[in-house]
Amino acid sequence: MILTNHAITGAALASLVPNEPLIGFSVGFLSHFVLDAIPHWDYKLGSKKEDGNKMNDDLAINRKFIKDILKIGTDGMTGLLLAYFLFSFYMKVSVFAVLCGAIGAMTPDALQFVYMKWRYEPLISLQRFHIWIHADEVK
Ligand SMILES: [Zn+2]
Repeated sequence: MILTNHAITGAALASLVPNEPLIGFSVGFLSHFVLDAIPHWDYKLGSKKEDGNKMNDDLAINRKFIKDILKIGTDGMTGLLLAYFLFSFYMKVSVFAVLCGAIGAMTPDALQFVYMKWRYEPLISLQRFHIWIHADEVK
C-alpha cells in the first residue's frame, strides 16, 4: 500500500491518543500490517531486483533508484502533509502526536529497505512477517 494511506491511517489512530506519542507511534506501526493485509495496488519501483523469492528482493542503487527515491519521497511527504492538514490543522491534534502516528505507520516500509541492505535479525524476521501478511498485489 502506498505511504500516503499508511501515514493518514497512523495519524488518525495517533489522534485518538494525542498525549501518548509512543502508543501513537506503536499503533501506527501495527496499522501498517493491517492495511498491507488488504488487497491493494502498489506503484512499481524501477530499481527493484527480483528473483521470485521475495526474501531476496533488493533495490539496486542506480539511476532508476534516484527516480524511485523521488517517487517514494513524494508519496511519504504527501502522507505527512495530508496527515498534518487533516489532524493538526483542522482537528487541532498536536503536530508531534500526528507525526508519531504517521511516521510509525510508514516505518515498516523503511525497514524493508534497511533489510535489503543489512540482512540481519530482527530485520529478517520482520521482513518474513511483512511478506507473509502482505496481500497479493491487485493487477
Ligand atoms: Zn508494507
